[in-house]
Amino acid sequence: MGEYVDHEVSDDPLHVLRHSTAHLLAAAVTELYPDVKYGIGPPVQDGFYYDFAFSSPIAESDLPAIESRMRRIVHEDRPFVQETLTRAEAIDQFRKRGQDYKLELINDKVEGDEVSVYHTGDFLDLCRGPHVASTRDLKAFKLLRLAGAYWRGDEKQPQLTRIYGTSWPAPKDLEEHLKFLEEAEKRDHKRIGKDLKLFMVDERVGAGLPLWLPAGATVRRELERFIVDEELARGYLHVRTPDVARLDLYRQSGHAQLYGENMYPPMKFEDGEELELRPVNCPHHIVIYQSDLRSYRDLPMRIAEIGNNWRYERSGTLIGLNRVRAFALNDAHIFCTPEQLMDEVKGAIELALYFSEVLGIEDWSYRLSSRDNVKEKWLGTEEQWERAQAALADALKAMGQSFEVGVGEAAFYGPKIDFQVKDVHRREFTNSTVQIDFQLPERFGLEYVAEDGSRKRPVMVHRGAAGSMERVFSYLIERYAGAFPTWLHPVQVVVAPLTDSQHDYA
Ligand SMILES: [Zn+2]
Ligand SMILES: [Zn+2]
Repeated sequence: MGEYVDHEVSDDPLHVLRHSTAHLLAAAVTELYPDVKYGIGPPVQDGFYYDFAFSSPIAESDLPAIESRMRRIVHEDRPFVQETLTRAEAIDQFRKRGQDYKLELINDKVEGDEVSVYHTGDFLDLCRGPHVASTRDLKAFKLLRLAGAYWRGDEKQPQLTRIYGTSWPAPKDLEEHLKFLEEAEKRDHKRIGKDLKLFMVDERVGAGLPLWLPAGATVRRELERFIVDEELARGYLHVRTPDVARLDLYRQSGHAQLYGENMYPPMKFEDGEELELRPVNCPHHIVIYQSDLRSYRDLPMRIAEIGNNWRYERSGTLIGLNRVRAFALNDAHIFCTPEQLMDEVKGAIELALYFSEVLGIEDWSYRLSSRDNVKEKWLGTEEQWERAQAALADALKAMGQSFEVGVGEAAFYGPKIDFQVKDVHRREFTNSTVQIDFQLPERFGLEYVAEDGSRKRPVMVHRGAAGSMERVFSYLIERYAGAFPTWLHPVQVVVAPLTDSQHDYA
C-alpha cells in the first residue's frame, strides 16, 4: 500500500496521519509555487517529508508561509478522495500538470492498467493510500527543515529540495515532541563539541576526518586507558599494527571481493606493489597469530588493539563524529578451540556489558544479525552458519538475555550479536559486536597443535567491546551534555603537593 515507491508503508494510524500530512504539504506547495514539480512524500520516524523541484530555490524562512497555507487547507475541510484511473488517464492527468516525476513513477512502478490516485481539492497524487478522511483530521503538525535529496536516492539524478515535517494526533503530542527535539538539539555532539572545543572538522583536512582538540584528546586518552587496562586484566594481549597492508592480504581475507565498496582505491606503486588502507584489523591479527606455532595450551589467544579503520563513505553522508571516514575501533580477535567458543562468546558479551555500564550506555538491546538468502554475499556453508548462529543465540539465552533477529545484517564471514544503542536523538546505532567466524581461519589455514599432537583449526571471534572511539565519544558528549564524569573529565584533577613532607600522600 502507500506510494508507488520502495519504502515501508503500512496501515499504522501514525503512518497514515503523517503520510496524509505530506500530501497536505504538497497541496500547499503547489498552490504557492504553481510550477513546482513534486517527487515523493513518505512517512518517516516521527514525521514525514516531501521532495520538490522548485524553479528557484526556497529557504527555511519560507516554511512559515507554507505552513500557514497548510492550515488554511485544513480549515477548508477537504476530503482525501481515492480514484482509480486507467494508465492513459493517469498519464494524461499528470502530464497536464507538468509532473514529470510522477510520469516516471507510473512508467517504472505501476503494473497493469489501473492507477490509484488521491485528490485533495485540486492537488492530485499518485498513491494507493490509505489516508485520513479529511484535511481537518490533521490537527498537530509543524515543518522543521530543508535538506537536499537526489531523486530516487541516485547521485546522477537531479537534486530536489526535501521539506521535513512532523505530525501528531493531538497538539499536546506535538508540543512534547518539539520539546524533545529542542532538548536533543541542545545535547547535539557537534554543537557541544564546538562549544567545549573537544573536536573540529575542517574542509582543508576533509569531511569525515575529525581533529581531536586537546580537551577531547584528554577524554579519549582516559577512555583508552580504561579500556586497555580492563582488557589486559581479562587476559587480552594488546598489539599495535599499521593502518595499511598489501591489497593481497584483503584478497585472501575476502574483503577485497565482498567488502570492496567500503574500501578506498589501493595505492599503486611503480614496482607493481599495491597497498590498501585497512577497512578492518582482522588480517593483521591473523598474521600475528601465525607468527608462531600455537598449541592448545596457548588458546584462547585474545589479540586486541585500538586500531584505525578506513571506510569509504560518500561525502554527503558524513556527520560530526558519527559518520566518519576513519575511526579507531576497540577491536579484538579471539582464537580458540571449538570447545572454548561458548565461554569466549559469553566473556565478550560480559565485557561489552561492563563497558556499557561504566560508560553510562543505557538505552540498548541485542540484535542477532543473520544472513539473508543472497548466496553470493556470504562465505561458508549453511551448516557452519547455523552452528554459529545457534552458538550466539545459546550464549545470550544462557545469560538470560532476550534479542531480536536482524536478517541480512551479518558480516560476510559469519553471524554476529550487535548491541543496538539509541542516542539522545532516538537514533539507533550498533556499538559493541560479537561475531563468530569459521571462514577466515580456513582462508588463512590457521592451526593449533591439539593435545593428541594433531593439527586442528581454531575458531575466531571478532569482537568490538566499547565500539569506535569516535562513536562512543559522540554518545558520551550527548549523554552527559558535556558534563563528563570525573574520571573522563577533560580537566583532570591534579593533586599538587604543598611541601616536601606531603609527598608520600600525593
Ligand atoms: Zn499518499
Ligand atoms: Zn575482525
